[in-house]
Amino acid sequence: MKKKVVLFVRVSTENQELESQIEALKQSAYIDGYSDDDLIVIAKKESGVKLKEAEREGLNELKRVIERNDIDGVYLFELSRLSRDPVTLYSLRDHIFKEKQIQLKCLKPSFSLLEEPDRTKFDTMGSLVFSIFGCFAEQEIIEKKERFHRGREQKAIEGKFAGGRVPYGYRVDEERGNLIVIDEDEASVIRTIFDLYEAGLSQPRIAVELQERGIKYRHYYGNQRNEYKNFTMHFIAHLLKNELLTGRKMKTDGCFERAYPPIISVAQFERCRDIAAANNTSYGKVSNVYYAKSLIVCPECGSKMSAYTGSRYVYRCHNAYQPADGTYSKVVNNWKDCSNKTVISINALDSLLWYLAVEQESQYLWGSAMEDISQFEAKIATIQAKIDAIQPRLKDLESKRSRIVMAFLDGDINKEFKTKKTVELDAQKLEIMKQQIAYEKDIDYFKERIEDIRRLYAVSGDDATAVANGVETIMDVKEKIEKTENDEEKSRLVHKHIKQIQIVKRMIPYQRKAKWIKSTEVEAKYVTVSFFDGSIRYFYLLCNHGSCSKWILSDEQGSVLEDLNIPIVQRFVNTKKREARKAQDEKDDEFKGMYNPKDLQIRGFDAMAKFLCMSGSVGVRRRYAQGFFEDAITVDENGVHIMDAARALEIMKASKNAWIIKILSNFYKVRKKKGK
Ligand SMILES: [Zn+2]
Repeated sequence: MKKKVVLFVRVSTENQELESQIEALKQSAYIDGYSDDDLIVIAKKESGVKLKEAEREGLNELKRVIERNDIDGVYLFELSRLSRDPVTLYSLRDHIFKEKQIQLKCLKPSFSLLEEPDRTKFDTMGSLVFSIFGCFAEQEIIEKKERFHRGREQKAIEGKFAGGRVPYGYRVDEERGNLIVIDEDEASVIRTIFDLYEAGLSQPRIAVELQERGIKYRHYYGNQRNEYKNFTMHFIAHLLKNELLTGRKMKTDGCFERAYPPIISVAQFERCRDIAAANNTSYGKVSNVYYAKSLIVCPECGSKMSAYTGSRYVYRCHNAYQPADGTYSKVVNNWKDCSNKTVISINALDSLLWYLAVEQESQYLWGSAMEDISQFEAKIATIQAKIDAIQPRLKDLESKRSRIVMAFLDGDINKEFKTKKTVELDAQKLEIMKQQIAYEKDIDYFKERIEDIRRLYAVSGDDATAVANGVETIMDVKEKIEKTENDEEKSRLVHKHIKQIQIVKRMIPYQRKAKWIKSTEVEAKYVTVSFFDGSIRYFYLLCNHGSCSKWILSDEQGSVLEDLNIPIVQRFVNTKKREARKAQDEKDDEFKGMYNPKDLQIRGFDAMAKFLCMSGSVGVRRRYAQGFFEDAITVDENGVHIMDAARALEIMKASKNAWIIKILSNFYKVRKKKGK
C-alpha cells in the first residue's frame, strides 16, 4: 500500500480561508509526487474562545490518523496551526515526527522538519523555525490565557458592543454576549498614566517612561486590533482628557449615549484636569505649602495662627478652636484660652503675600543681589550633585526590571512574582523621578535668577537710556519672579521679606456695585503686614460670600483706599463644594434666564397660563384638579391659587406626559424669543 500524507488545516471561525489553505497544501503535496488518493484532510474550524479544546481535538484526530494509516508526512500552512503551545510542539516534534520518521512540511515559512532522505536528524532550517516559533507562541499564549481568565472575573456592566470602535481600556467580551468590559491590562496602563501625571510628570515624559517600561498600545477596530504602537504625547493627552474613563455617560463615535465601566475616579480625573489647566507640572508639591505659616500672630493670645484644611481652607488661631471639654491637657499641649475666632482664607492671604513678595524681591534685585550669584551657583552645584547621585539608582532599577522580565520569559519565575516585583520597582522609580523633577525645577529657578541679576548689572546707572532699560529690566524681572511655580520657593521669598502679619475683623463703609443700594457697612479683615526692611503696609480683605473676595489698600488709620487688582489664586479648593456651587450657579442662571424674579409667585390660573405661554387656563386647572401641580400650587386665605413657578417647572421637567412636554417646549421657545 502506498504511503499517505495528511493535510492539516485549522482556521478560526472568522476566517474564510479554509478552502484556500487546503488548496495550497494540495499543490505542495502534488509537487512532492502525491495524488489525490494519497491525501487525508484534517480540517478544523475553531471558535475564538475554546482554543485549547479545539486544538486538542485536532491533534487527537491527527494522532488517530497516524496510528491507523501508514503516514509519510504532514502538510501544514503554519506551525501555529499544529499547536500554539511550545511544550506540545516540542513533544509532537520528538515523539511523533522524529520517532516515527514522518516528515513535517510547513508552507509559511517554508521548511521541512527532518533531513531527507533518512529522516533521523532535524533539518537546520526546521529546528531553527521551531525554536523561534516557540518563543513567540509562549508569549502569545501567556497573554491569551490571562485575558481569558480575567474576562470571567469582570463584573457585568451595562452596554454591549454595537459595532464601531471600542475605546482604549475596554474590550468586547464575546463570551458574555458582546458586553463591553474593562481590559485590565490596558486599564492598568491608563491608571499608571493618570498617577504619573498627578505625580508631576509631563506628558512627553510619561511617553518616554512608558517606552522605557516597554509598554505599547493598540486600538480595537471592532473585533480587530491594529498593531502595537509606542505611546505618543498626543495619545496620552487624549487619554487624560477622556471623560468616559470615569464612567460618565457620554456620546461617543456612534450617535447614542453610553456609559463605560469606570477606570479612573472622577476625583482623580478632575485633579488631572486642574493640572492641565494650570499648565504646570509641579503639582505634586502644591498641596501643603502655606506661605503665611508662622507669620500671623493672634492679637489676643499671641500665638502663631496655623493653616486649617477641613471643609474650608483658612488660617485660624489654634487655641481658639480647642475643644472646651478638656479632651486635651492644657499643660501638655501648651495652649492658652483664646476667643479669637477670626479666620482668613488661605487662598486670599497667600495671594496677597505672594504679590507683596514679588514687589519686594524685584526691588531687592534692583538693589543689591550680585553677591547672591555665587550663592545661587553653589546651590545649583549641590542640587546637580544630588541629581547625579540619583542616576546610578535609576539605572540599577532599570536593569533589575529587565532581569526580572527575562527571568519570567525564561520561565524561572511566575507571573505573579514578576508583576509584584515590577510594580515595586516602578513605584521606586517613580519616587526617584519625582525627586529628580523637583531638583530640576529648582535648578531652572536658580539659573534664571542668576541670569536676571547678570542682566541687571549689565546696566550702568549713569546713562539715561540704560536707566530706562533698567526699568524695563526690572519689569522683566518682576514678570520672571511672578512665573515662579515652585511653591516652596514662593514661600521662601514670602518669608524672606515678610516678618509678621496681624489680622483683625473690622466693619468698613463700602459702596456696593448696584447703585440703588445705599452705601453700607460691611465686615472686612484688616491685615497689617510688617516687612524685614522696616516698612509696614495695611490692607483690607473684603469677603462678600466666601469665594469672591477682594483686596483693598488701606493705611495706618484704617482708611478705605483704592481697590487692588490682586488675583486670588484658588490653590486650595474643596472640589465637592466647588462642584455643588457650580451646579447651583448653572441652575440659577438657567432659572434667571427664563423669567423675572417677580414672576416667582403667580397668582391665579389665568396668570399661570400666561406665564406658561398657554392660550387658556383650562389645561392648568384640569392638571391641578388631577393633582399634577399639587406641590407647586397653594391656596391663600382669600381662595386665590398661587403657583410657585420654580417648583412648577421642576415638576413639569420631570414629567413624561406628552401634553406637559409640549407645553414645556413651547414655554422655552417663547421665552427664548422674548430674550428673557
Ligand atoms: Zn489666639
